[in-house]
Amino acid sequence: MKVIDHINQAKDKTIVSFEVLPPLKGKGIEALYKHLDPLMEFKPAFINVTYHRSEHVFKKRADGSFEKVVVRKRPGTESICAAIMNKYNVDTVPHLICGGFGINETEDALINLRYLGIDNVLVLRGDAAKNETAFEPEPGGHKYAIDLLKQVVNLNAGIYLEEDLKGTHKTEFCIGVAGYPEKHFEAPNMDTDLRYLKAKVDAGADYIVTQMFFDNAKYYAFVKACRDIGINVPIIPGLKPVYTKKQLTVLPKTFHIDLPTDLSNEMLKCKTDEEVEQVGTEWLLHQSKDLKKSGVPVLHYYTLGKPHIVANVVKEL
Ligand code: FAD
Repeated sequence: MKVIDHINQAKDKTIVSFEVLPPLKGKGIEALYKHLDPLMEFKPAFINVTYHRSEHVFKKRADGSFEKVVVRKRPGTESICAAIMNKYNVDTVPHLICGGFGINETEDALINLRYLGIDNVLVLRGDAAKNETAFEPEPGGHKYAIDLLKQVVNLNAGIYLEEDLKGTHKTEFCIGVAGYPEKHFEAPNMDTDLRYLKAKVDAGADYIVTQMFFDNAKYYAFVKACRDIGINVPIIPGLKPVYTKKQLTVLPKTFHIDLPTDLSNEMLKCKTDEEVEQVGTEWLLHQSKDLKKSGVPVLHYYTLGKPHIVANVVKEL
């Protein structure tokens, strides 16, 4: 079932959804099931599975020199979605990115997703590869998420890359896109970023999922700014717990977001990461209750290795 149908069916009720990473290569899918098992009692409407492109890494040879190799640490997004659907009978949302893909591979991936019975995709640009300073599309690949989105919209209209296939099978993907309550880090300002977000919605996005934020006021201001420029699709808040002191610097550096002073002060007072986890759980619960009260359609949790924190929060809602 499509994400948008879940939202419409729930009417004014807030539903929950979770986001997981594919297991690290070598770990097997059982690790992921172990992660998901404690979360399934909350009957998530859907589960997102992130996409991780290949990276170049340098491996040391026996003679001390280095060899550049391409590795993909977390493969399998599409098949993991199918496996989760099969095991838990829940809808899934594979993330699809521009980075590392040509348009033909993208089309094949979309066709495979339909064969697997997957109704949803979250379309993203992806970040620059680790060895690049700025995002570089594949030769002939998409430069921005909107270009990938248009390919999905085309396929939904039965427009394939090969002219001859025009008017054959139409896919029916529900399409989500990313939004940034604290602005995407490359955008010169919020207005420009919002204009590009609106372009994605005008081109056919059914809903928006936000980057994580820790200050609900920023989400509310973002939603208002979106509505003011005519973005009317559901805007799903993305939420993540804090659980280590290191996140005080890692989260702003990696995701280009701020931690509110009250939260960072509480984290700084903690002597152990267990204490930080307690602070993070309370903060996430407070955020979730407030968002639910405000009538958000979905609470989307980035579970990222800490399913028990998310489970403790959702239990209290
Ligand atoms: P875009 O919408 O293409 O925007 C990128 C930048 O370009 C923005 O600054 C925007 O303002 C600007 N822009 C957009 N259109 C144009 C245009 N036509 N001309 C000029 N500028 C333009 N990354 C992964 O690799 N895998 C994942 O699974 C993943 N999941 C994510 C899930 C969520 C909910 C979010 C919020 C992010 C996720 N990311 C993921 C990270 C994402 O790929 C990065 O944030 C990336 O840098 C931007 O992706 P986007 O889809 O927002 O890009």
